[in-house]
Amino acid sequence: MSDEHPALYRRVVIKLSGEALTGPDPFGLNAPTVARIAADLVSAVSLGVEIAVVVGGGNFFRGMQGADKGIERARADSIGMLATVMNALAIEAAIEAEGHAARALSAVPMPSVCQPYSRQATLHHLAKRRICVLAGGTGNPFFTTDTGAVLRAAELSSDAVMKATLVDGVYSADPKIDPSATRYEHLTHDQAISQNLAVMDTAAFALARENRIPIVVFSIVDHGAIRSALQGKGRFTLVSP
Ligand code: UDP
Repeated sequence: MSDEHPALYRRVVIKLSGEALTGPDPFGLNAPTVARIAADLVSAVSLGVEIAVVVGGGNFFRGMQGADKGIERARADSIGMLATVMNALAIEAAIEAEGHAARALSAVPMPSVCQPYSRQATLHHLAKRRICVLAGGTGNPFFTTDTGAVLRAAELSSDAVMKATLVDGVYSADPKIDPSATRYEHLTHDQAISQNLAVMDTAAFALARENRIPIVVFSIVDHGAIRSALQGKGRFTLVSP
């Protein structure tokens, strides 16, 4: 194949926000968008990379929003974690529809719905080339799925976190608002934290810094984006020590 660049990584955690699954819809899951991302994941895994996806839930519910409406924060976060399970099941199904094996595993145990998350089970599935879709974030309130993604990357000995967003990297300001915003090619974890760059929360960056885990921030908008990012092609920002 003409694009046959080897993958830069052996094992990665891909963070997919709930927003990435909404596509043109105002809310929830857009089936063609989920199918496109699933096809992209299957194409990416054919590079020989072991892939665990950590999925967000913001397309349905975020704990902070619930707390603003008067739901106790810990309970609101539980609702948010349940939202990630819905997304994980949809992605699992879409990957299987592409003809590839997938396993949803949830940090909030619900064994009648999917396997409870464990490091051992996930490593077993990854070794069998199954795409693992990790739901429930860290399994604890007061965290985000960004932090969950870095935590899983650390415990699964992943080479990188691939943070899929709707823009092609980290900018000096919001490029939708400020046309003079410039994209960073490279940042250190320290810079990302000290400049308070909104692409991931500080807890996630701090955990990545402590464990020296690189974060690749790239756009999920185009078809084939995950495969290209894994090959080091296209535009992205690398956050590394
Ligand atoms: N959440 C949580 N603990 C975690 C991960 C997520 O309580 O470890 C809850 C939290 O309420 C969060 C929601 O799940 O707002 C959805 O996750 P997130 O906001 O990270 O989703 P995304 O913005 O990536 O779609």
